[in-house]
Amino acid sequence: MKNNSIPPYKKKDKYVSFEARFTAQHRHQLSIKEECGVFGISDNKDAAALTALGLHALQHRGQEGCGIVTYDNVNFHLERRLGLVGDNFTKSQTLEKLSGSMAIGHNRYSTSGRDTMRNVQPFYADLHGGGVSIAHNGNLTNAIMLRESLVKDGAIFHTTSDTETIVQLIARSKKNMIVEKIIDALWQIQGGYALTMLSNEMLIGIRDPFGIRPLILGKLDHSYILASETCALDIIGAEYVRDIENGEIVIIEKGKLKSIKPFPIRAKRPDVFEYIYFARPDSLLEGQCAYEYRKNLGEQLAKECGVRPDVVVPVPDSGVPAALGYSQAAGIHFELGLIRNHYVGRTFIQPSQNIRSLGVKLKLNANKSSIKDKVVVLIDDSLVRGTTCHKIIKTLYHAGAKEVHVRIASPEIKFPDFYGVDTPTKKELLAANKSNEEICEYIGAKSLKFLSLDGLYKAMGHEKRSAESPQFTDHHFTGDYPVKPLDHLNDDKITQLSLLSLASNQ
Ligand code: AMP
Repeated sequence: MKNNSIPPYKKKDKYVSFEARFTAQHRHQLSIKEECGVFGISDNKDAAALTALGLHALQHRGQEGCGIVTYDNVNFHLERRLGLVGDNFTKSQTLEKLSGSMAIGHNRYSTSGRDTMRNVQPFYADLHGGGVSIAHNGNLTNAIMLRESLVKDGAIFHTTSDTETIVQLIARSKKNMIVEKIIDALWQIQGGYALTMLSNEMLIGIRDPFGIRPLILGKLDHSYILASETCALDIIGAEYVRDIENGEIVIIEKGKLKSIKPFPIRAKRPDVFEYIYFARPDSLLEGQCAYEYRKNLGEQLAKECGVRPDVVVPVPDSGVPAALGYSQAAGIHFELGLIRNHYVGRTFIQPSQNIRSLGVKLKLNANKSSIKDKVVVLIDDSLVRGTTCHKIIKTLYHAGAKEVHVRIASPEIKFPDFYGVDTPTKKELLAANKSNEEICEYIGAKSLKFLSLDGLYKAMGHEKRSAESPQFTDHHFTGDYPVKPLDHLNDDKITQLSLLSLASNQ
């Protein structure tokens, strides 16, 4: 039996419910579909090639697999591959198969060891009334519950992805029109999601009611474009029009865009981690560059966590903008004290244990000339398990640094994520289990400080966090989950999670 298949009925069992056969591990595997990238384009003779370019710009959001679906007014065409966009969609043979002027595409996040090809998106299904294709960034928080009742009702699932639940719900809707069927399905799902969909002659973009996952709208001549981030517009010379609003559905048909909001209006709460880490620094978030937000975080960090080092050193590449902000605010030299090898690919053959014990540094090496005998402040955007930091500090000391102080440009991550970010279980989150002093000792730093929650909101341009209606989804730090993680309430992933902190609005 494969690792992630559901255990079969045992002969002696009279009836074992689907729920009972589902271990926490299966739940986790089912819901794995992390920070992916989505794209869509209408009315363009080069739809497939432009989608490939858009996905290439969004490659940082997922490297495990990629796919494109096109529609040529008669047929849908689907090509899905494991690996990077550049390795799969540059060949003219692949793109030539994708004829049509409408397309959607998807990048899937890397999750090693899990069943892969069948979960690569976009998914396609022939439904009553025509074909529908879907690409999804995010994670549904009630997919397992829905799946259980769908399976009981006779639905046959082909993947372990929560996205297929949406397809099944659309297929089973008794409504007549495809948009009505989709709305019917959306009423039933919960979680964080940004979707691009393609039906006969319609390109559709959907953002969840809180706007947890991002989706933006762009234009290239007569073509509308939907994408996870604006960097996908820049690569094809398209202009940024606006962010898709929370709870908004945009329907692009025959060159015209229609916007509807069929659900109760909620206050927008985008995931603050897009601002801190996920989005490419050159992407706009709500019209402002992610790079600027991150510099502000570094600047605020310098104000809060003053240490007078000789040099400010970023963890490449995630800590670079915050380190620049820190260095400018504190008036201390910024130095590339760590050099990254950009050619560490997924296919790199891991050295044997023997060679590894020599301390082979595949990805990062210390730049001795800029840190030797210096008091270093090391800046990163976030601390999760602490493994990166631990290794880097060792490397810096080994290269001659006098003192290494660590400053993190976000607060302590104490709570897991259920909306599409691959943060580990509470057990593995360092800050959920250790005090500041214990973490400092574990990573081997001279001192350690995190940005305060107030400081995070200040850097984001808000006076303070609004208690009644927080401006962001910030559960990573606060445990305040805007949507209850129904599928996981009994998992160890949220052991000790204060359910009282769950907002009661779902
Ligand atoms: P860790 O070594 O586990 O503490 O991870 C911290 C590093 O991982 C930081 O450099 C972050 O930029 C990066 N990081 C934070 N969140 C994620 C995520 N969800 N997926 C991959 N990397 C992440």
